[in-house]
Amino acid sequence: MAALAWLAAGLCSTTSTTVAPTAAVAVAVDLTEQRLEGSARYDLSAGKHVFDWHPALEILSVRLNDAELPDGARTPEGLRLELRAAAGLAFDWRLPLAPLDGALDHRAALRADRPMTGGGFAWLPAAAGWYPGPTSGLGDYSLTVRTTAGLPIAAGAYSGPAAAGGTNAPAAEKGTSHTFRHPHPAGGIDLLIGPYALTTRAITTPSGVQLDVATYFTPAIAALASDYLDAAAAQIIEYDALIGPWPFARFAIVASPLPTGFGMPGMTWLGEEVLRLPFIPATSLRHEVLHNWWGNGVRVDYARGNWSEGLTTLMADFLVKEREGPEAAAAQRLDWVRTLLAVPPGESIALRDFRARAHGRQAAVGYGKAAFVLLMLRERIGAEAWRAGLRHFWQACQHREASWADLQQAFEQASGQTLDSAFEPWLSAQTLPTPRITRAVAAADGLGLTLHLSQGEPVHDLDLPVQIRTEAGTEMQRVRLSTQQAVVQLRLPAAALGVRLDPSLSVLRAPAAAAMPPILRNALLAAMPAWWVSQAGDAIHDTAEWQGGGGAPAP
Ligand SMILES: [Zn+2]
Repeated sequence: MAALAWLAAGLCSTTSTTVAPTAAVAVAVDLTEQRLEGSARYDLSAGKHVFDWHPALEILSVRLNDAELPDGARTPEGLRLELRAAAGLAFDWRLPLAPLDGALDHRAALRADRPMTGGGFAWLPAAAGWYPGPTSGLGDYSLTVRTTAGLPIAAGAYSGPAAAGGTNAPAAEKGTSHTFRHPHPAGGIDLLIGPYALTTRAITTPSGVQLDVATYFTPAIAALASDYLDAAAAQIIEYDALIGPWPFARFAIVASPLPTGFGMPGMTWLGEEVLRLPFIPATSLRHEVLHNWWGNGVRVDYARGNWSEGLTTLMADFLVKEREGPEAAAAQRLDWVRTLLAVPPGESIALRDFRARAHGRQAAVGYGKAAFVLLMLRERIGAEAWRAGLRHFWQACQHREASWADLQQAFEQASGQTLDSAFEPWLSAQTLPTPRITRAVAAADGLGLTLHLSQGEPVHDLDLPVQIRTEAGTEMQRVRLSTQQAVVQLRLPAAALGVRLDPSLSVLRAPAAAAMPPILRNALLAAMPAWWVSQAGDAIHDTAEWQGGGGAPAP
C-alpha cells in the first residue's frame, strides 16, 4: 500500500530539476515600420538554462543581476547559462519583421517559424522566436503589448483570472497598451495582432468557472462571430461538465492570416478561409476547444511522447462521428486503419515516438492510432471508469506535464485494474496486430465451435468480437487472444454456419489484404472476411479469407 500511495502522489510529477523561469515581457510592435522592440526579464532558479531566438533578432543588451554579459557569452541565436544561485536575467532586443507570406499553404504555415507582418497583421507565434525565450518553457508570464497609434489592433493573447491579478482586457482599442497575464506554466508566448472586430460573451461553466469567449474576426467574416461564440460556449460547457473545470480566464477564436489550425492555452488561431467553412464550428473548433484540457491544460512531456492528439481526436473528432451513429463511427475507425496501412513498411513510427504532426506518417500514428488505442481502453474499463480516469487525470495533472505513463496510471487508479497490456504493446509496436482465425471446427453435438486463432509479432493482448451465424440467427461473442496462438471453445444455441472476426473493426488491427479493397470503403465492413463452418468435426478451409458476401462456403 505504501508503494501505491507513493505512485499516486507521483502522478504528473516533474522530471526536471530546473524550475521554469517566470517572465515579464514588454513589446512595442510597429506595423508601419515592420519592426518590433522588446524587453524581457526572467527570474531564474539555480541550474541550467538555455535561451534561443530567431536569427534575425538583434540583442541590444543582456544583463545578469544587472551586470552586462559580454557579447562572447552568447551565439547569434542563443545563450546557455549554468547558475549556482537564483538570478535575474534581462534582455533588450529589436527585430525586423519579414513580409507576411499570404501564399503559404497549410503545411507550410505549420512550419512558418518567422516573425512576420503584413496586411495589418503581426504574426508572432512562440515558435517564431520573436522574443529571447527559455527552451524549458515558462513558469508563468505577463505580456504587455503596445502597437502603432492609429492602427486598429487586437492582441490575440489571453489573460489570467482577475483573482490572480490578471486583466480581462479586450484589446480592440487603437494604439494603446494591453497587458495579458498567464498565471500558469506555458510553452511560450503566442501573439497575433490584426485588424479585428472583437466580440465577447461571458459564460459560467457547470463547474462554476466564469470566462469570456471571444472572437477576433476580420470585418469580412464578422457575421460568423455569433455562430462561433454559440458553438464554443456549448463545447466549453460540455467538456467542463465531463472532465472538470475549464482552466483559463478566456477563450479567444482568432482569425489567422495564414491557413493554420493552432491551439494555444485559452486561444485558437484558425485561418480565415477555414473559418468560412460551415462545418468548422462543429469539428475543428471542438478539437481546439478540447486542447485546452489536453495539451494546453495538462501539458505534454514531449521527451516521453505526445498523448494529447490521440485523446483530443477521440473525444472531439470521433465523438462527432459516434453521435452520428454506429456506421459513421465504424467508418472513422476504418479510416484510421486505412491511413495507418497506407504508410510504407519500415516508415512507420512507434506511438511512443510521436511528438508532433510533421508529416502524414506521423499523424497517422499520433492521431488515428492513439485515438483508437484510447477508444479500446474505454471499451475495456467501461464508460464509468473511463470518465473517472479522465477527471482524475485532469485534477492531478492540470498545469503540469504528463506522459503516457501518467495517463495509464490515472486510468489504473480509476478502474482498479493493471493496464499494461492496454498501453505497452500499442505504444511500442510499429505495426498493427494481425489476428486471424486459422481454423473453425464445429463441435460433434453441433452446439459448439472451436476457433483456432493466431497473430504475428509483436504479440498484443486482444479481446476480439466474433460474429457467428447459426441456424437460429446471428450472435456476437468475445474471444481473447493474448499469445501468438490460441484455441477457444464457444457454446452456441444452434449449429454454426459461419463465423467472422470483428466485423465492425472495433479492435485496431491489420485485416488481411483481401479484406482491404482499395476503394470499397463501405463494402469492406459489410464483407469482412468470414469463415464457414461445416457439419460436425470438420473445418471448411484454412487459407482463403475473403468471402464475397455470398452465402456459399468457399471451396
Ligand atoms: Zn490537435
